[in-house]
Amino acid sequence: MNFVLHGHAVSGGITIGYAHLVASARMEVGHYEVPEEDVESEVKRFDAALRRAREDLEGLKAQIPAGAPAEFAAFLDLHRMILEDTSLSEAPRELIRSRRCNAEWALVQQMEKLSERFDEIDDAYLRERKADIQQAVERVLKALMGAHALPEAALTEEERLIVVAHDLSPADMILFKRHHFGGFVTDLGGVTSHTAIVARSLGIPAIVGLHHAFQAISEGELLIVDGQRGVLIVNPDPLVLAEYRLRQSQIGEERQRLKLLKSTAAATRDGTPVELYANIELPEDMPEVLEAGAQGVGLFRTEFLFLGRADLPGEEEQFEAYRRVAEAMEGRPVVLRTLDLGADKAINDSDEVHTKPNPAMGLRAIRFCLAEPQMFLTQLRAILRASHYGRVRMLLPMVAHVHEIEQTLALIRQAKQQLDERGQPYDRGVEVGGMIEIPAAALALPIFMRRLNFLSIGTNDLIQYTLAIDRTDDAVAHLYDPLHPAVLSLVAGTIQTATRGGMPVAVCGEMAGDLQLTRLLLGIGLRNFSMHPSQLLPIKDRILRTNLGEVQTLAQRVLRAADPVKTRELLAQLNA
Ligand code: PEP
Ligand code: MG
Repeated sequence: MNFVLHGHAVSGGITIGYAHLVASARMEVGHYEVPEEDVESEVKRFDAALRRAREDLEGLKAQIPAGAPAEFAAFLDLHRMILEDTSLSEAPRELIRSRRCNAEWALVQQMEKLSERFDEIDDAYLRERKADIQQAVERVLKALMGAHALPEAALTEEERLIVVAHDLSPADMILFKRHHFGGFVTDLGGVTSHTAIVARSLGIPAIVGLHHAFQAISEGELLIVDGQRGVLIVNPDPLVLAEYRLRQSQIGEERQRLKLLKSTAAATRDGTPVELYANIELPEDMPEVLEAGAQGVGLFRTEFLFLGRADLPGEEEQFEAYRRVAEAMEGRPVVLRTLDLGADKAINDSDEVHTKPNPAMGLRAIRFCLAEPQMFLTQLRAILRASHYGRVRMLLPMVAHVHEIEQTLALIRQAKQQLDERGQPYDRGVEVGGMIEIPAAALALPIFMRRLNFLSIGTNDLIQYTLAIDRTDDAVAHLYDPLHPAVLSLVAGTIQTATRGGMPVAVCGEMAGDLQLTRLLLGIGLRNFSMHPSQLLPIKDRILRTNLGEVQTLAQRVLRAADPVKTRELLAQLNA
């Protein structure tokens, strides 16, 4: 049966491929009946995943750095013991054989049984070990997912796998960076959730907020993901398929054409230069940054080094990651944002600090770092040390109070002193900037400008906090509106005040990579854009085709427009 689902477009392009259902133990896993003849191979698939999860745990234990807390090894041993328990190692095999459950479903049923037994325990400490059971099981589920994925070499254009999930965390997405999927679709999520941002950074078509995709789609069904319109077509008929194949090849040709712009300087038609930077999540993203010809890294979301793991990365590990990025840019600027953990970026599923009732407004980003000064100092030292190997700048997320900046500057001085005592080199003049992503900071800009060297507008959070919409909640995703007069006024006001004060200002939120908004942002005075590498060449192309003199007047009219229909009309004129 063919049908169509509508969601929120996250990342453009079209992909045609086969559904691959992905579940984590926290949500409903796909459950289906395995055909009689495949039962034994399903048992084998389960055994292989269990073996892989145990090997992963042993590998992790072998890599424990000297000086790591003893609990870490104990925790790995506990997870290994959990996986050896017959209720998880033997019972799922029975379920596969007797009830023909797929491996994931058999495992999760057993996990739930075991968890219930823990619920009945009086001892609070032991009761909490339920989270360990879940984590150990998730390791096997992830191995099952990996075992299902086809090796890349075996994939032809038609055989690409499309991940279909109820919900994915940013940490899940980081794991997927290492696989080569053709696209992503999820039931939940907003367009600027970090899950969507990582999907966009992969440069592959993605849709979020589809509501029933995970329920309605079966493993292996043929899908078309139209990431531009947010449309998912399940089991398309041959005519529709042919039409999408044509559009897909047109998009491919356009991408080839844009590649020619890699070394062209970004400037408007009337000669105003514009700086184009890249956003990254991990050092592994650097080849794409260089491929896109970025002038530097405008936002390294360093918290992604911390996601989906049981331990915190130490100073050496962080230093190596930051140095890799600094060196790869060969003297061009690299903006390292200090940790922005919290909200939708929890370290792992048992991370209680970040699962408070309202995490987006809770102990997130700079607030969390200042509450954990030792962890923050570790990162500050690692960043400072990397500054010796390139042109590194430091960017502070979520600033709302002047005292947050002052406390951070004091910690930076302390970190420098510690490095001096160790005799380790760093750039003594490292610049410190602030993200303008809370309306309070945009409205009281001068007091922040006095204490900082540069600004970067985080429009994703600025929109979330200005319009009071949770960026991860698909129920309010339709209210996400970069063109809302309040948002435009805060963005334009920040750019103007900073520019008048001689302070560099960039936009590093998703607005910077939105082709519909390039001319508007140029018109209101933005000269520094930071975005995913995959968006950089299309944006450069748009800038090269823009006459600044013409768009400035229209942009001012957009700012003054009193109703949304007029705003959209003017935007259409700007983009004509
Ligand atoms: C933003 O808020 O716009 C931003 C760039 O930071 P993040 O998306 O990581 O919150
Ligand atoms: Mg932000």
